[in-house]
Amino acid sequence: MASESSPPPAGAPPPGLGDKLAVFWDEGMLAHDAGRGVFDSGRDPGFLDVLDQHPENADRVRNMVSILRRGPIAHFLSWHSGRPAHASELLSFHSSEYIEELVQTNATGAKKKLCEGTFLNPGSWGAALLAAGTTLSSAKHILDGQGNLAYALVRPPGHHAQPDHADGYCFLNNAGLAVQLALDSGRAKVAVVDIDVHYGNGTAEGFYRTDTVLTMSLHMMHGSWGPSHPQSGSVDEIGEGKGLGYNLNIPLPNGSGDAGYEYAMNELVVPSIDKFQPQLLFLVVGQDSSAFDPNGRQCLTMEGYRKIGQIMRRLADRHCNGQILVVQEGGYHITYSAYCLHATLEGVLDLEAPLLDDPIAYYPEDDKYTMKVVDMIKSYWKESVPFLKEI
Ligand SMILES: [Zn+2]
Repeated sequence: MASESSPPPAGAPPPGLGDKLAVFWDEGMLAHDAGRGVFDSGRDPGFLDVLDQHPENADRVRNMVSILRRGPIAHFLSWHSGRPAHASELLSFHSSEYIEELVQTNATGAKKKLCEGTFLNPGSWGAALLAAGTTLSSAKHILDGQGNLAYALVRPPGHHAQPDHADGYCFLNNAGLAVQLALDSGRAKVAVVDIDVHYGNGTAEGFYRTDTVLTMSLHMMHGSWGPSHPQSGSVDEIGEGKGLGYNLNIPLPNGSGDAGYEYAMNELVVPSIDKFQPQLLFLVVGQDSSAFDPNGRQCLTMEGYRKIGQIMRRLADRHCNGQILVVQEGGYHITYSAYCLHATLEGVLDLEAPLLDDPIAYYPEDDKYTMKVVDMIKSYWKESVPFLKEI
């Protein structure tokens, strides 16, 4: 059952400055309050005494901040402040009509439901601008050569936000904006690996017709969820035109866990990145792929997150001079999300041994079924994705 967490390593030598992972954060992002209701609906049926805090709430991120400040990983991190994005910066990914719509909605001062589960309340727009700007700052840190490892600790999340509409708790596509900044700064090819339990449809949509950005998403099989999210996340959504083959979806069977994800990373993500040879690597991370998340049906534990972080670090070392930008997305279990984040960053830092024990693992997974599905996806890619004929 539960075990005690490892204490911070007393007197552990701080690593060289170049090895530190730069965390970008601004507490102004806590001002976004999506309200209360029956789970994420915002509705009060009138017959419940206690309603849920919206799952995308400030508390989940408060714990991510505190575990990084006070957990054993603290020695390996440096902290950097964020900034709000300028409206003009948003146009590198979003349409001017959409941004104007958000600005106008915010100016009314009223609460507005933009789509199912997604609420723009007073305070939300300021937080969204901070999330976008803080992610851009974290990218600039790497692009300017100030460090190789950075993490944008941001909310509201972004990977469902499409160029012209909000979706799935997301308003602005934080990672998408940073990818575009990397391209505009001279990086010819950028790869994004999204391990949030939901399909990173907004990021995929933004780069669906280009071969300079490889978007890969590992997610549960949830399909389309309405007008704001028409994409299904299925294997045959592989990009269009010049972008054909440069959006790779890995919908894993619900219940996939550490072994299944590691197999998918090694069989699908690693060979694709090796072929693509990006000049910057993004790890778009959601802890809602954990076994205990209210929004997910996957079974990752800290060990799985740590392994994914390590695999990504090796890829970055091989192709990108060790440069990797981690961008925060979902993750709704108030305490375990923080632990899974800690484990992911331990992996990205390529630390030899875990610094923190898992307080609540284990959960069963059907890894053989996941592996069969991964093998099928690989066969499909060999037939349908020109640059992956020989993986
Ligand atoms: Zn998610």
